[in-house]
Amino acid sequence: MIFTPEHDAIRKTVRDFVEKEINPHCDEWEEAGEFPIHEVFKKLGNLGILGIQKPEAYGGMGLDYSYNLVAAEELGMAHCGGVPLAIGVQTDMCTPAIARFGSDELKRTFLAPAIAGDMVGCIGVSEVGAGSDVAGLKTTARKDGDDYIINGSKMWITNSPKADFICLLANTSDDKPHKNKSLIVVPMNSPGITFSKHLNKLGMRSSETAQIFFDDVRVPQRYRIGAEGTGFMMQMLQFQEERMWGAANVIKALENCISQTIDYCRERKTFGQPLLDNQVIHFRLAELQTEVEALRALTYQACELHIQGKDVTRLASMAKLKAGRLGREVTDGCLQYWGGNGFMWDNPLSRAFRDVRLVSIGGGADEIMLGIICKMMGTLPGKRRG
Ligand SMILES: Cc1cc2nc3c(=O)[nH]c(=O)nc-3n(C[C@H](O)[C@H](O)[C@H](O)COP(=O)(O)OP(=O)(O)OC[C@H]3O[C@@H](n4cnc5c(N)ncnc54)[C@H](O)[C@@H]3O)c2cc1C
Repeated sequence: MIFTPEHDAIRKTVRDFVEKEINPHCDEWEEAGEFPIHEVFKKLGNLGILGIQKPEAYGGMGLDYSYNLVAAEELGMAHCGGVPLAIGVQTDMCTPAIARFGSDELKRTFLAPAIAGDMVGCIGVSEVGAGSDVAGLKTTARKDGDDYIINGSKMWITNSPKADFICLLANTSDDKPHKNKSLIVVPMNSPGITFSKHLNKLGMRSSETAQIFFDDVRVPQRYRIGAEGTGFMMQMLQFQEERMWGAANVIKALENCISQTIDYCRERKTFGQPLLDNQVIHFRLAELQTEVEALRALTYQACELHIQGKDVTRLASMAKLKAGRLGREVTDGCLQYWGGNGFMWDNPLSRAFRDVRLVSIGGGADEIMLGIICKMMGTLPGKRRG
């Protein structure tokens, strides 16, 4: 991956934003279990950061995915995972399908305001009974004249309490599970939408998460993205960007854990010497840093393939898997060297340990990534390639 001065400029813009607009408030927002998402997104929109690879015709920068990747990586410098997660939902989870397959009306009504930071979006795939098994979801959108009537619910939806629209995956026919789904953009102020109270989470405390209920929610059929019945396929494509974003976002967050641990272990003395002088500790930190570089290389490789327009499923799944696994290893490994201090709720390592745990679960759990990789290796029983 060769970075240009334009990449460096985006990196600096995001880094400055994180330092000035996010980090000074992280503790307060984590405590509150929310942050002023519209305010923060508007500032990001003004900087162009919410539309880096979105079409210029709708206010985006029209750049390739590598520029987005740089921004995702830099957001990892935030002192909490919740705010970057909310931003990633907007840029890489609920808008890629609209940008790729949406009508001009959808792009004008939802994509352009999302890029400008005037609207907050969320992505509705998971349900109480269907997280990993996306094909098994039960929410329906039945035709009624020119509209769909939506019934069902979505679980664990990031940004939803303050969102202006949801990119919703619902069953629009009784066809086979991979052919009966459509992605529909639903305004969140539609009558019939209600929420659970905020879900009380282990980590990502500053991001808001709720369950959403749809009770005879009416939405025009023209708010469907692309052709009816192609929603599953579109969501699988949209997942690739989500997974690359997730991997990229972890890289600097983990490096931050390592560097903070080095500083701490240099200061902290046991048995008359700095903790860092124990070979077991500085070797371990060197090993973890090496692993992070390997994750970076894998993620960049996936990005390069994506830019070339090639199928990135295999490498994006590997990068997401590695990010989840390594995230747990680094935060757990580093936290250990902080001793009792690391076990305290407000400790930076303790927060990273809780936040990063989501990476192995959300957007396709580790085992789902392994299943995809096996499928592509031809080793899934009954699904071997001829
Ligand atoms: C904080 C948070 C934010 C989220 N935000 C969103 C959002 O904005 N939008 C959205 O749609 N969803 C969101 N999710 C949902 C998330 O994507 C799902 O939780 C995830 O896909 C796993 O689904 P599940 O929880 O139903 O787990 P299940 O499907 O019940 O699986 C439980 C566990 O079983 C294992 N497992 C599952 N299947 C297999 C298998 N075939 N083989 C072996 N092991 C397996 C995995 O370890 C998995 O973690 C969010 C979740 C959280 C916690």
